[in-house]
Amino acid sequence: MQNFSLFTLVQEFGKELFAVLQPKEQSLYNTGINSLADAKNEIYYLLSFVLQKDKVFLLSHAEYVLSKTERELFMRSFERRKKGEPLAYITGQKEFYGSNFFVDSSTLIPRPDTEILVDEASAYFTVQKHNQSFYVMDLGTGTACILLSVLKECRQCFGYGIDINKKAIELAKRNADRLGLAKRSQFFTADFTNEAFIAQLEEILQGKQLDCIVSNPPYIPEYEYFALDDSVKQFEPKSALVSGQAQNGENGLAHAEKILQAGEELLKSGALLLIEHGYNQGKAMQALCSHYHYTSVKTLMDLGGNERALYAIKK
Ligand code: GLN
Repeated sequence: MQNFSLFTLVQEFGKELFAVLQPKEQSLYNTGINSLADAKNEIYYLLSFVLQKDKVFLLSHAEYVLSKTERELFMRSFERRKKGEPLAYITGQKEFYGSNFFVDSSTLIPRPDTEILVDEASAYFTVQKHNQSFYVMDLGTGTACILLSVLKECRQCFGYGIDINKKAIELAKRNADRLGLAKRSQFFTADFTNEAFIAQLEEILQGKQLDCIVSNPPYIPEYEYFALDDSVKQFEPKSALVSGQAQNGENGLAHAEKILQAGEELLKSGALLLIEHGYNQGKAMQALCSHYHYTSVKTLMDLGGNERALYAIKK
């Protein structure tokens, strides 16, 4: 790489990145780069990471030339991005609900669609519980982006995060520390699809019942996995994405069913259950939910206008 200024870097490397990563075909889970402007923005994002400066600084220092070390880090990051690796894994973080979360390959990258779960849980908390303590649990917490965002919004909330992956739990704890929420959260490695899970939790909860369960579980049926964007398949953990059939045959909702069952045991009467699901699973999810003890069941839409989550109140 020559001694380019920031301005030239953005132009030249933006063009190169767009040429490599523009989508070859439209896919539902497309994570390619749709325009040259987006590609240039990605270069800004990488430069912000390399220089630890925000975009305003970069724009006002367009003539700045990178040092040798900065150049090397930029080039390493750029080459990774060219191979389709998501920016979040390259920079080790992702913004969600206004906070930055550490991410690594042990967890999914937080998606904006998931933010509706935080909105709903916070709204429920505000209306119902504003003066009391409130216990919320996140099943399959990953980075803990949902749980920690709810805690940030709701100051009297205490949260439990559960994940099957020990590395994800370590990451979740680092995120809790980073956001100053370690005192109001506890994290445990456990498999919520396992028979022993409820007994394990009863030990953790010591007689407390939960006011809310949130979850973005794996929900993609195995046969739809192939249709995911290459960068998702190549870099994000399959175990966090794909689920089997629920008992009545609902595809991809085996994990969701376990959450409905856990909710029956662990939630207070009147407590809130929120489960994210796929854009085409609203009906199947409601059908599945009808076998369990919930009321006020509805499907929440995401910002893109797709069915995205089940809302249910424990009877
Ligand atoms: N709760 C995390 C998220 O929403 C992880 C979800 C998962 O691994 N399925 O991003």
